[in-house]
Amino acid sequence: MSTSSNNMHINEFGLDSAHWRNWAGNQSCVRAARGAPTNEDELCSLVRDATSKGMNVRVAGSGHSFTPVALTNGLHLTLGNIRGVQSIDYDRKRVTAAAGTTMNEFGRALKAAGLSMVNQGDIDSQSLAGALTTGTHGTGLTLGNLASSIVGMKLIQPDGSIIKVDESTPDLLNAGRVSMGTLGIVSEITLQVTDSFNLHERIWREDFESVMEKHDELAKKHRHFSFFWCPYEHSHKYYCLPDTSATSTTGRTTDVCEVKVMDITDRPAFESEFEKVAYSSDVYPIEYLPNFHELEYAVPMAHAKDALRAVRKTMLEDFPQAAYPIEYRFTAGDGAWLSPFFEQDSVTISVSGEPGTDYWSFLRAVDAILRMYGGRPHWGKLHFLTGEDVKAIYPRANDFLALRRKLDPEGIFLSEHLGLLFK
Ligand SMILES: Cc1cc2nc3c(=O)[nH]c(=O)nc-3n(C[C@H](O)[C@H](O)[C@H](O)COP(=O)(O)OP(=O)(O)OC[C@H]3O[C@@H](n4cnc5c(N)ncnc54)[C@H](O)[C@@H]3O)c2cc1C
Repeated sequence: MSTSSNNMHINEFGLDSAHWRNWAGNQSCVRAARGAPTNEDELCSLVRDATSKGMNVRVAGSGHSFTPVALTNGLHLTLGNIRGVQSIDYDRKRVTAAAGTTMNEFGRALKAAGLSMVNQGDIDSQSLAGALTTGTHGTGLTLGNLASSIVGMKLIQPDGSIIKVDESTPDLLNAGRVSMGTLGIVSEITLQVTDSFNLHERIWREDFESVMEKHDELAKKHRHFSFFWCPYEHSHKYYCLPDTSATSTTGRTTDVCEVKVMDITDRPAFESEFEKVAYSSDVYPIEYLPNFHELEYAVPMAHAKDALRAVRKTMLEDFPQAAYPIEYRFTAGDGAWLSPFFEQDSVTISVSGEPGTDYWSFLRAVDAILRMYGGRPHWGKLHFLTGEDVKAIYPRANDFLALRRKLDPEGIFLSEHLGLLFK
Protein backbone atom coordinates (compact mmCIF):
# COMPACT_ATOMS: atom_id res chain seq x y z
CA MET A 1 0.00 0.00 0.00
CA SER A 2 1.31 3.47 -0.80
CA THR A 3 0.33 6.54 1.21
CA SER A 4 0.19 9.99 -0.29
CA SER A 5 0.93 13.12 1.69
CA ASN A 6 -2.75 14.01 2.16
CA ASN A 7 -3.91 10.84 3.89
CA MET A 8 -5.17 9.03 0.82
CA HIS A 9 -4.29 5.34 0.76
CA ILE A 10 -4.19 3.76 -2.67
CA ASN A 11 -4.85 0.06 -2.32
CA GLU A 12 -2.59 -2.35 -4.10
CA PHE A 13 -5.33 -4.94 -4.15
CA GLY A 14 -4.66 -6.04 -0.60
CA LEU A 15 -8.21 -7.16 0.13
CA ASP A 16 -7.90 -6.49 3.87
CA SER A 17 -7.54 -2.79 3.15
CA ALA A 18 -9.73 -2.64 0.08
CA HIS A 19 -12.79 -4.45 1.40
CA TRP A 20 -15.51 -2.66 3.39
CA ARG A 21 -18.79 -3.97 4.78
CA ASN A 22 -21.67 -2.37 6.62
CA TRP A 23 -22.79 -3.03 10.21
CA ALA A 24 -25.49 -5.54 9.22
CA GLY A 25 -23.11 -7.40 6.89
CA ASN A 26 -25.46 -7.34 3.88
CA GLN A 27 -23.55 -4.71 1.82
CA SER A 28 -19.90 -4.64 0.88
CA CYS A 29 -17.56 -3.11 -1.66
CA VAL A 30 -13.97 -3.21 -2.82
CA ARG A 31 -12.77 0.37 -2.93
CA ALA A 32 -9.86 1.60 -5.04
CA ALA A 33 -8.67 4.06 -2.42
CA ARG A 34 -9.36 5.09 1.16
CA GLY A 35 -9.03 8.49 2.76
CA ALA A 36 -9.06 9.57 6.37
CA PRO A 37 -8.55 13.35 6.35
CA THR A 38 -7.73 15.08 9.62
CA ASN A 39 -9.07 18.51 8.67
CA GLU A 40 -11.32 20.23 6.14
CA ASP A 41 -8.44 21.36 3.89
CA GLU A 42 -7.26 17.76 3.54
CA LEU A 43 -10.81 16.66 2.84
CA CYS A 44 -11.16 19.25 0.05
CA SER A 45 -7.86 18.28 -1.54
CA LEU A 46 -8.74 14.56 -1.42
CA VAL A 47 -12.01 15.26 -3.24
CA ARG A 48 -10.24 17.50 -5.81
CA ASP A 49 -7.57 14.81 -6.44
CA ALA A 50 -10.17 12.09 -6.87
CA THR A 51 -12.16 14.24 -9.33
CA SER A 52 -9.03 14.87 -11.39
CA LYS A 53 -8.51 11.09 -11.60
CA GLY A 54 -12.17 10.49 -12.53
CA MET A 55 -12.72 8.54 -9.32
CA ASN A 56 -16.10 8.41 -7.54
CA VAL A 57 -16.14 9.57 -3.92
CA ARG A 58 -18.37 8.38 -1.06
CA VAL A 59 -18.18 8.74 2.70
CA ALA A 60 -18.75 5.79 5.00
CA GLY A 61 -20.44 7.08 8.14
CA SER A 62 -20.88 4.42 10.80
CA GLY A 63 -22.08 1.91 8.18
CA HIS A 64 -25.52 1.50 9.76
CA SER A 65 -27.49 1.66 6.50
CA PHE A 66 -28.94 -1.57 5.14
CA THR A 67 -28.94 -0.21 1.56
CA PRO A 68 -25.82 0.18 -0.65
CA VAL A 69 -25.84 3.99 -0.10
CA ALA A 70 -22.36 4.15 1.43
CA LEU A 71 -20.62 1.87 -1.11
CA THR A 72 -18.11 2.88 -3.77
CA ASN A 73 -15.44 1.32 -5.95
CA GLY A 74 -13.64 4.67 -5.98
CA LEU A 75 -12.38 6.77 -3.06
CA HIS A 76 -13.99 5.81 0.25
CA LEU A 77 -13.64 8.43 2.94
CA THR A 78 -14.05 8.21 6.67
CA LEU A 79 -14.46 11.47 8.57
CA GLY A 80 -13.73 9.74 11.88
CA ASN A 81 -10.64 11.90 12.36
CA ILE A 82 -12.60 15.17 12.14
CA ARG A 83 -15.07 15.04 15.03
CA GLY A 84 -16.63 17.08 17.74
CA VAL A 85 -18.72 20.17 18.40
CA GLN A 86 -17.13 23.25 16.84
CA SER A 87 -19.29 26.07 18.18
CA ILE A 88 -22.43 26.73 20.22
CA ASP A 89 -24.70 29.75 19.79
CA TYR A 90 -26.42 29.71 23.18
CA ASP A 91 -28.78 32.58 22.32
CA ARG A 92 -30.27 30.87 19.27
CA LYS A 93 -29.64 27.34 20.63
CA ARG A 94 -27.72 26.32 17.53
CA VAL A 95 -24.81 23.91 17.57
CA THR A 96 -22.26 23.33 14.80
CA ALA A 97 -20.41 20.01 14.70
CA ALA A 98 -18.08 18.14 12.37
CA ALA A 99 -20.11 15.82 10.14
CA GLY A 100 -18.26 12.69 11.34
CA THR A 101 -19.22 13.27 14.99
CA THR A 102 -21.33 10.37 16.23
CA MET A 103 -24.83 10.99 17.55
CA ASN A 104 -23.60 9.71 20.91
CA GLU A 105 -20.71 12.20 21.03
CA PHE A 106 -23.05 14.99 19.96
CA GLY A 107 -25.55 14.06 22.70
CA ARG A 108 -22.83 14.06 25.37
CA ALA A 109 -21.61 17.50 24.27
CA LEU A 110 -25.18 18.86 24.38
CA LYS A 111 -25.72 17.42 27.86
CA ALA A 112 -22.59 19.19 29.09
CA ALA A 113 -23.82 22.43 27.48
CA GLY A 114 -27.31 22.24 29.05
CA LEU A 115 -28.98 21.52 25.69
CA SER A 116 -30.87 18.63 24.05
CA MET A 117 -31.64 17.42 20.54
CA VAL A 118 -35.30 17.89 19.64
CA ASN A 119 -35.69 14.17 18.92
CA GLN A 120 -33.62 11.03 18.29
CA GLY A 121 -34.00 7.52 16.91
CA ASP A 122 -33.41 4.08 18.38
CA ILE A 123 -29.60 4.15 18.28
CA ASP A 124 -26.89 6.78 18.63
CA SER A 125 -23.92 5.10 16.97
CA GLN A 126 -24.46 6.74 13.57
CA SER A 127 -22.44 9.70 12.32
CA LEU A 128 -24.33 13.00 12.25
CA ALA A 129 -24.14 13.32 8.46
CA GLY A 130 -24.99 9.66 7.84
CA ALA A 131 -28.03 9.70 10.11
CA LEU A 132 -29.38 13.10 9.14
CA THR A 133 -28.92 12.97 5.37
CA THR A 134 -30.71 9.60 5.05
CA GLY A 135 -33.80 11.05 6.77
CA THR A 136 -33.36 9.20 10.07
CA HIS A 137 -36.23 9.81 12.50
CA GLY A 138 -37.46 8.98 15.97
CA THR A 139 -41.10 9.03 16.95
CA GLY A 140 -43.56 11.81 17.83
CA LEU A 141 -46.74 13.02 16.14
CA THR A 142 -45.58 16.65 16.14
CA LEU A 143 -41.84 16.06 15.73
CA GLY A 144 -40.05 16.11 12.38
CA ASN A 145 -37.21 13.84 11.34
CA LEU A 146 -33.70 14.68 12.56
CA ALA A 147 -32.78 16.49 9.31
CA SER A 148 -35.60 18.98 9.85
CA SER A 149 -33.41 20.48 12.63
CA ILE A 150 -30.57 21.22 10.18
CA VAL A 151 -30.21 25.00 9.79
CA GLY A 152 -26.82 25.00 8.12
CA MET A 153 -24.25 22.75 6.48
CA LYS A 154 -21.08 22.88 4.39
CA LEU A 155 -20.94 20.88 1.15
CA ILE A 156 -17.57 20.06 -0.45
CA GLN A 157 -17.88 20.19 -4.23
CA PRO A 158 -16.08 18.01 -6.87
CA ASP A 159 -13.43 20.74 -7.41
CA GLY A 160 -12.73 20.95 -3.67
CA SER A 161 -14.60 24.22 -3.19
CA ILE A 162 -17.06 24.65 -0.31
CA ILE A 163 -20.70 25.72 -0.52
CA LYS A 164 -22.15 27.17 2.69
CA VAL A 165 -25.82 26.30 3.06
CA ASP A 166 -28.16 28.02 5.51
CA GLU A 167 -31.61 29.62 5.74
CA SER A 168 -30.55 32.30 3.24
CA THR A 169 -30.28 29.50 0.63
CA PRO A 170 -33.63 27.72 1.23
CA ASP A 171 -33.54 25.53 -1.88
CA LEU A 172 -30.04 24.25 -1.12
CA LEU A 173 -31.07 23.69 2.50
CA ASN A 174 -34.18 21.69 1.61
CA ALA A 175 -32.28 19.73 -1.02
CA GLY A 176 -29.24 19.13 1.21
CA ARG A 177 -31.05 18.04 4.37
CA VAL A 178 -31.82 14.62 2.89
CA SER A 179 -29.32 14.04 0.07
CA MET A 180 -27.16 11.00 1.01
CA GLY A 181 -23.95 12.75 -0.02
CA THR A 182 -25.11 13.22 -3.63
CA LEU A 183 -24.82 17.04 -3.49
CA GLY A 184 -21.32 16.98 -2.00
CA ILE A 185 -19.41 15.76 1.00
CA VAL A 186 -20.82 17.28 4.19
CA SER A 187 -17.99 18.60 6.36
CA GLU A 188 -20.06 20.27 9.08
CA ILE A 189 -23.66 20.60 10.16
CA THR A 190 -25.47 23.21 12.28
CA LEU A 191 -28.49 21.94 14.20
CA GLN A 192 -31.31 23.77 15.93
CA VAL A 193 -31.45 22.28 19.41
CA THR A 194 -33.46 23.04 22.53
CA ASP A 195 -33.00 23.51 26.27
CA SER A 196 -31.90 20.39 28.08
CA PHE A 197 -34.75 18.10 29.16
CA ASN A 198 -35.25 14.81 30.96
CA LEU A 199 -37.53 12.14 29.54
CA HIS A 200 -39.84 9.84 31.46
CA GLU A 201 -40.04 6.50 29.61
CA ARG A 202 -42.61 3.76 30.27
CA ILE A 203 -42.88 0.42 28.48
CA TRP A 204 -45.62 -2.20 28.68
CA ARG A 205 -47.30 -5.02 26.75
CA GLU A 206 -50.82 -4.67 25.38
CA ASP A 207 -53.08 -6.57 22.94
CA PHE A 208 -52.95 -5.43 19.32
CA GLU A 209 -56.66 -4.50 19.12
CA SER A 210 -56.51 -2.62 22.39
CA VAL A 211 -53.59 -0.50 21.08
CA MET A 212 -55.49 0.14 17.84
CA GLU A 213 -58.43 1.49 19.88
CA LYS A 214 -56.16 3.86 21.81
CA HIS A 215 -53.90 4.68 18.81
CA ASP A 216 -54.98 8.31 18.26
CA GLU A 217 -55.24 9.09 21.97
CA LEU A 218 -51.76 7.70 22.79
CA ALA A 219 -50.22 9.53 19.81
CA LYS A 220 -51.74 12.86 20.92
CA LYS A 221 -51.19 12.46 24.65
CA HIS A 222 -47.49 11.56 24.62
CA ARG A 223 -44.55 13.47 23.12
CA HIS A 224 -43.23 10.10 21.91
CA PHE A 225 -45.37 7.01 21.32
CA SER A 226 -44.23 3.90 19.45
CA PHE A 227 -44.62 0.15 19.59
CA PHE A 228 -43.20 -3.11 18.32
CA TRP A 229 -45.97 -5.47 17.20
CA CYS A 230 -44.86 -9.01 18.03
CA PRO A 231 -46.61 -11.77 16.07
CA TYR A 232 -45.20 -14.58 18.24
CA GLU A 233 -43.99 -15.15 21.78
CA HIS A 234 -40.33 -15.28 20.73
CA SER A 235 -40.54 -12.22 18.43
CA HIS A 236 -39.31 -9.68 21.00
CA LYS A 237 -36.04 -11.60 21.37
CA TYR A 238 -35.01 -10.88 17.76
CA TYR A 239 -34.62 -7.19 18.63
CA CYS A 240 -33.38 -7.85 22.18
CA LEU A 241 -36.53 -6.16 23.57
CA PRO A 242 -37.04 -6.58 27.31
CA ASP A 243 -39.49 -9.26 28.47
CA THR A 244 -42.52 -7.20 29.47
CA SER A 245 -44.83 -10.17 30.15
CA ALA A 246 -45.12 -9.06 33.79
CA THR A 247 -46.78 -5.83 32.61
CA SER A 248 -49.36 -7.54 30.36
CA THR A 249 -53.00 -7.00 31.28
CA THR A 250 -54.33 -10.13 29.54
CA GLY A 251 -51.54 -12.68 29.63
CA ARG A 252 -51.55 -13.00 25.82
CA THR A 253 -48.14 -13.77 24.34
CA THR A 254 -48.91 -13.61 20.60
CA ASP A 255 -50.28 -10.70 18.53
CA VAL A 256 -49.22 -8.21 21.20
CA CYS A 257 -47.62 -4.77 21.15
CA GLU A 258 -44.58 -3.79 23.19
CA VAL A 259 -45.61 -0.17 23.77
CA LYS A 260 -43.28 2.70 24.67
CA VAL A 261 -44.19 6.27 25.65
CA MET A 262 -41.77 9.06 26.59
CA ASP A 263 -42.62 12.51 27.94
CA ILE A 264 -40.66 15.52 29.15
CA THR A 265 -40.51 15.63 32.94
CA ASP A 266 -39.03 17.67 35.80
CA ARG A 267 -38.66 14.56 37.91
CA PRO A 268 -35.12 13.57 38.93
CA ALA A 269 -33.42 10.57 37.33
CA PHE A 270 -34.45 7.07 38.43
CA GLU A 271 -34.69 3.64 36.84
CA SER A 272 -36.86 0.58 37.50
CA GLU A 273 -37.54 -2.41 35.28
CA PHE A 274 -40.17 -0.87 32.97
CA GLU A 275 -39.80 2.82 33.69
CA LYS A 276 -37.04 5.39 33.85
CA VAL A 277 -36.26 9.10 33.98
CA ALA A 278 -32.95 10.37 32.55
CA TYR A 279 -31.41 13.05 30.33
CA SER A 280 -33.04 12.93 26.86
CA SER A 281 -30.13 11.42 24.92
CA ASP A 282 -29.63 8.78 27.61
CA VAL A 283 -33.21 7.53 27.13
CA TYR A 284 -33.68 7.27 23.35
CA PRO A 285 -31.10 4.62 22.34
CA ILE A 286 -31.71 0.89 22.73
CA GLU A 287 -29.36 -2.05 22.03
CA TYR A 288 -29.54 -4.05 18.80
CA LEU A 289 -27.49 -6.99 17.57
CA PRO A 290 -26.63 -7.07 13.85
CA ASN A 291 -29.04 -9.95 13.15
CA PHE A 292 -31.68 -8.31 10.94
CA HIS A 293 -32.08 -6.75 7.50
CA GLU A 294 -34.70 -4.04 7.73
CA LEU A 295 -37.17 -2.35 5.38
CA GLU A 296 -39.08 0.73 6.53
CA TYR A 297 -41.57 2.99 4.72
CA ALA A 298 -43.25 6.23 5.78
CA VAL A 299 -47.01 5.99 5.18
CA PRO A 300 -49.31 9.06 5.18
CA MET A 301 -51.17 9.37 8.48
CA ALA A 302 -54.57 8.90 6.83
CA HIS A 303 -53.63 5.30 5.94
CA ALA A 304 -51.64 4.50 9.07
CA LYS A 305 -53.82 1.86 10.72
CA ASP A 306 -55.02 0.28 7.45
CA ALA A 307 -51.44 -0.13 6.23
CA LEU A 308 -50.37 -1.65 9.54
CA ARG A 309 -53.31 -4.07 9.53
CA ALA A 310 -52.51 -5.13 5.96
CA VAL A 311 -48.85 -5.87 6.76
CA ARG A 312 -49.85 -7.73 9.95
CA LYS A 313 -52.35 -9.82 7.94
CA THR A 314 -49.81 -10.83 5.30
CA MET A 315 -47.28 -11.73 7.99
CA LEU A 316 -49.74 -13.94 9.87
CA GLU A 317 -51.38 -15.54 6.81
CA ASP A 318 -48.78 -15.62 4.02
CA PHE A 319 -45.39 -15.45 5.75
CA PRO A 320 -45.64 -17.28 9.10
CA GLN A 321 -41.85 -17.59 9.13
CA ALA A 322 -41.55 -13.76 9.35
CA ALA A 323 -41.15 -13.48 13.11
CA TYR A 324 -39.36 -10.16 13.62
CA PRO A 325 -41.57 -7.46 15.18
CA ILE A 326 -43.09 -4.62 13.15
CA GLU A 327 -41.80 -1.30 14.48
CA TYR A 328 -44.42 1.48 14.29
CA ARG A 329 -43.58 5.18 14.85
CA PHE A 330 -44.82 8.70 14.05
CA THR A 331 -43.05 11.60 12.27
CA ALA A 332 -44.36 15.05 11.31
CA GLY A 333 -44.05 16.29 7.72
CA ASP A 334 -41.14 18.52 6.66
CA GLY A 335 -39.89 20.46 3.64
CA ALA A 336 -36.80 18.48 2.58
CA TRP A 337 -37.26 17.54 -1.07
CA LEU A 338 -36.21 13.90 -0.66
CA SER A 339 -37.50 13.38 2.86
CA PRO A 340 -39.84 10.39 3.13
CA PHE A 341 -41.98 12.80 5.19
CA PHE A 342 -42.01 15.57 2.56
CA GLU A 343 -45.09 17.67 3.36
CA GLN A 344 -46.77 14.61 4.87
CA ASP A 345 -47.36 13.70 8.53
CA SER A 346 -46.65 9.99 8.53
CA VAL A 347 -46.24 6.78 10.45
CA THR A 348 -43.29 4.55 9.75
CA ILE A 349 -43.78 0.81 9.45
CA SER A 350 -40.74 -1.44 9.46
CA VAL A 351 -40.24 -5.17 9.06
CA SER A 352 -37.09 -7.28 8.95
CA GLY A 353 -35.80 -10.32 7.12
CA GLU A 354 -33.64 -12.86 8.91
CA PRO A 355 -30.03 -12.93 7.64
CA GLY A 356 -29.17 -16.24 5.99
CA THR A 357 -32.77 -16.88 4.86
CA ASP A 358 -34.48 -15.96 1.58
CA TYR A 359 -36.68 -13.13 2.83
CA TRP A 360 -37.08 -11.34 -0.51
CA SER A 361 -40.62 -12.48 -1.35
CA PHE A 362 -41.71 -11.28 2.12
CA LEU A 363 -40.04 -7.88 1.72
CA ARG A 364 -41.50 -7.53 -1.80
CA ALA A 365 -44.98 -8.30 -0.49
CA VAL A 366 -44.60 -5.64 2.23
CA ASP A 367 -43.22 -3.18 -0.35
CA ALA A 368 -46.29 -3.75 -2.56
CA ILE A 369 -48.67 -3.15 0.36
CA LEU A 370 -46.96 -0.05 1.68
CA ARG A 371 -46.61 1.50 -1.78
CA MET A 372 -50.34 0.95 -2.31
CA TYR A 373 -50.84 3.16 0.76
CA GLY A 374 -48.49 5.86 -0.56
CA GLY A 375 -45.40 4.71 1.36
CA ARG A 376 -41.98 6.29 0.79
CA PRO A 377 -38.92 4.24 1.82
CA HIS A 378 -36.23 5.12 4.33
CA TRP A 379 -33.07 5.69 2.24
CA GLY A 380 -30.96 3.68 4.68
CA LYS A 381 -33.27 0.65 4.82
CA LEU A 382 -34.02 -1.98 2.19
CA HIS A 383 -36.36 -0.88 -0.61
CA PHE A 384 -37.11 -1.53 -4.27
CA LEU A 385 -37.29 2.01 -5.71
CA THR A 386 -36.22 2.81 -9.25
CA GLY A 387 -35.31 6.21 -10.69
CA GLU A 388 -38.82 6.43 -12.19
CA ASP A 389 -40.38 5.72 -8.77
CA VAL A 390 -38.34 8.53 -7.22
CA LYS A 391 -39.85 10.99 -9.73
CA ALA A 392 -43.33 9.62 -9.14
CA ILE A 393 -43.40 9.74 -5.34
CA TYR A 394 -41.30 12.84 -4.55
CA PRO A 395 -43.02 16.00 -5.87
CA ARG A 396 -39.70 17.94 -5.86
CA ALA A 397 -37.60 15.10 -7.36
CA ASN A 398 -37.01 16.90 -10.66
CA ASP A 399 -35.77 20.00 -8.82
CA PHE A 400 -33.43 17.81 -6.77
CA LEU A 401 -32.11 16.04 -9.89
CA ALA A 402 -31.53 19.35 -11.70
CA LEU A 403 -29.58 20.72 -8.73
CA ARG A 404 -27.56 17.52 -8.36
CA ARG A 405 -26.60 17.59 -12.06
CA LYS A 406 -25.64 21.25 -11.83
CA LEU A 407 -23.38 20.73 -8.78
CA ASP A 408 -21.89 17.42 -9.90
CA PRO A 409 -22.31 16.99 -13.69
CA GLU A 410 -19.79 14.13 -13.84
CA GLY A 411 -21.55 12.18 -11.08
CA ILE A 412 -18.44 12.06 -8.86
CA PHE A 413 -20.67 11.63 -5.79
CA LEU A 414 -22.79 8.87 -7.30
CA SER A 415 -22.34 5.10 -7.19
CA GLU A 416 -23.99 2.23 -9.04
CA HIS A 417 -26.90 2.26 -6.54
CA LEU A 418 -27.30 6.05 -6.36
CA GLY A 419 -26.82 6.49 -10.13
CA LEU A 420 -29.90 4.34 -10.78
CA LEU A 421 -31.95 6.57 -8.45
CA PHE A 422 -30.58 10.07 -9.06
CA LYS A 423 -28.63 10.26 -12.34
C1 LIG B 1 -29.48 -0.96 14.56
C2 LIG B 1 -30.00 0.17 13.72
C3 LIG B 1 -30.94 1.04 14.26
C4 LIG B 1 -31.44 2.10 13.49
N1 LIG B 1 -32.38 2.91 14.04
C5 LIG B 1 -32.95 3.87 13.28
C6 LIG B 1 -33.96 4.71 13.79
O1 LIG B 1 -34.35 4.62 14.95
N2 LIG B 1 -34.53 5.61 12.95
C7 LIG B 1 -34.15 5.73 11.65
O2 LIG B 1 -34.73 6.53 10.92
N3 LIG B 1 -33.14 4.98 11.15
C8 LIG B 1 -32.54 4.07 11.94
N4 LIG B 1 -31.51 3.32 11.41
C9 LIG B 1 -30.98 3.65 10.08
C10 LIG B 1 -29.76 4.59 10.21
O3 LIG B 1 -30.04 5.69 11.05
C11 LIG B 1 -29.37 5.16 8.85
O4 LIG B 1 -29.17 4.14 7.93
C12 LIG B 1 -28.14 6.08 8.93
O5 LIG B 1 -27.85 6.56 7.65
C13 LIG B 1 -26.90 5.41 9.42
O6 LIG B 1 -25.91 6.39 9.69
P1 LIG B 1 -24.37 6.06 9.40
O7 LIG B 1 -23.54 7.10 10.03
O8 LIG B 1 -24.10 4.66 9.74
O9 LIG B 1 -24.35 6.30 7.84
P2 LIG B 1 -23.88 5.32 6.67
O10 LIG B 1 -24.84 4.20 6.59
O11 LIG B 1 -22.46 5.00 6.79
O12 LIG B 1 -24.11 6.28 5.42
C14 LIG B 1 -25.39 6.73 5.07
C15 LIG B 1 -25.29 7.67 3.88
O13 LIG B 1 -24.75 8.92 4.28
C16 LIG B 1 -23.61 9.24 3.48
N5 LIG B 1 -22.69 10.01 4.29
C17 LIG B 1 -22.22 9.73 5.52
N6 LIG B 1 -21.43 10.74 5.96
C18 LIG B 1 -21.41 11.66 4.97
C19 LIG B 1 -20.78 12.93 4.81
N7 LIG B 1 -20.01 13.46 5.75
N8 LIG B 1 -20.98 13.60 3.65
C20 LIG B 1 -21.76 13.08 2.69
N9 LIG B 1 -22.38 11.91 2.78
C21 LIG B 1 -22.21 11.20 3.91
C22 LIG B 1 -23.08 7.88 3.06
O14 LIG B 1 -22.24 7.95 1.93
C23 LIG B 1 -24.37 7.17 2.78
O15 LIG B 1 -24.90 7.57 1.54
C24 LIG B 1 -30.99 2.27 12.16
C25 LIG B 1 -30.03 1.40 11.62
C26 LIG B 1 -29.54 0.35 12.39
C27 LIG B 1 -28.52 -0.58 11.81
